[in-house]
Amino acid sequence: MRKITADHIYPISSAPLENAVILLDDKGRITGIEPLADHNPGTVEKHQGVIIPGFINTHCHLELSHMKGKVDTGTQLIPFITNVVKFRDVPEEEIQEAIRRADEEMYEGGIVAVGDISNKLDTADCKRSSQIRYYTFIELFDFLQEDWAEKTYLDHQAVYAGQADREGNRKSAVPHAPYSVSRNLFARINALNGGQGTVSIHNQETPPENELFLSKTGGFIDFYRSFDISLDAFEATGQPAINYALAHMDPACRTLFVHNTMSTPADIAAAHAWGRNGVYWATCANANLYIENRLPNYQHFLDADAKVTIGTDSLTSNWHLSILEELRTISRYQSYVPFATLLQWATLNGAEALQYDDELGSIEIGKTPGLNLLTGLEGDGPDNFSIGNETTVKRLI
Ligand SMILES: [Zn+2]
Repeated sequence: MRKITADHIYPISSAPLENAVILLDDKGRITGIEPLADHNPGTVEKHQGVIIPGFINTHCHLELSHMKGKVDTGTQLIPFITNVVKFRDVPEEEIQEAIRRADEEMYEGGIVAVGDISNKLDTADCKRSSQIRYYTFIELFDFLQEDWAEKTYLDHQAVYAGQADREGNRKSAVPHAPYSVSRNLFARINALNGGQGTVSIHNQETPPENELFLSKTGGFIDFYRSFDISLDAFEATGQPAINYALAHMDPACRTLFVHNTMSTPADIAAAHAWGRNGVYWATCANANLYIENRLPNYQHFLDADAKVTIGTDSLTSNWHLSILEELRTISRYQSYVPFATLLQWATLNGAEALQYDDELGSIEIGKTPGLNLLTGLEGDGPDNFSIGNETTVKRLI
């Protein structure tokens, strides 16, 4: 048994504690949260700083880890995607080594579960032996071509079958983005998931995405032309991109919208009115800065009481796979988001989004959430804590 305490404990599911001790069994399961005074000080590990649950990274592309530093920053999304496509031919060994290093980086940084987009099987080995739990999103896209949907679906059956074959890991099939998935393919994905699990989709990451759906104009027209893919059969819906997703995704699944850089209060409200099993909003602040140099307006999400989660995206579009680095960036650019709210985004909301909240996401008796220690915070207590340049995270368990 371990007994751990620090100056402050943030259970997340309840108010911050002082002078409390967390009791854990050999498997890291919390067996008690008790007053420190009830325990012999010699039996308690005491830390300076703030104890929080393990982090949840709700959006990653582990299989793109070998492209770290290879794609330019600030290009905007469409040239970025075009560059990524060019770099897919890399020796298998290099890919596997990069995946393992990225998985280790996340573990060391206090991440206990990851929602990971997979187009291939490259990450399956790593996920089998990792100390992190993975919810794999097997991602499909057919460039809006209705008659490619069936082949796309069949081509991904082996990837679907080969992912998440270890206890504790899970999977679902997911659409890539509104601008890349036909109605037929949405229907195929819905049928495979059967209204179960969590489904993620890249959403409103760049202005041309809305332009395509509102008026069939903007950068995606040239993007498709450059790949010689016809958009003749595509008709503008006259509504923002997210409405196309809402019209064709299954509202019975828990839904995780990713990026949401351009999402408006009306978009957020439309999704909340639509979802029947929880709507979550993953933000990947550093990737947004890397690719488009713009961030979502988090005030819209706070105003709507939206459940925001944190993602790192991939090493192709980020310098680290670190939840703390994401929180540092949000704190730097939109410092009005309260410290306790950021912690909830990084832990419990993410666990709920991936449906791992029976075990992870908060410090509660019966859970095995992992424990992280934050040090070097700015401020001197829960009333004014914030994440600054000196803040570090250390995994305690
Ligand atoms: Zn992504």
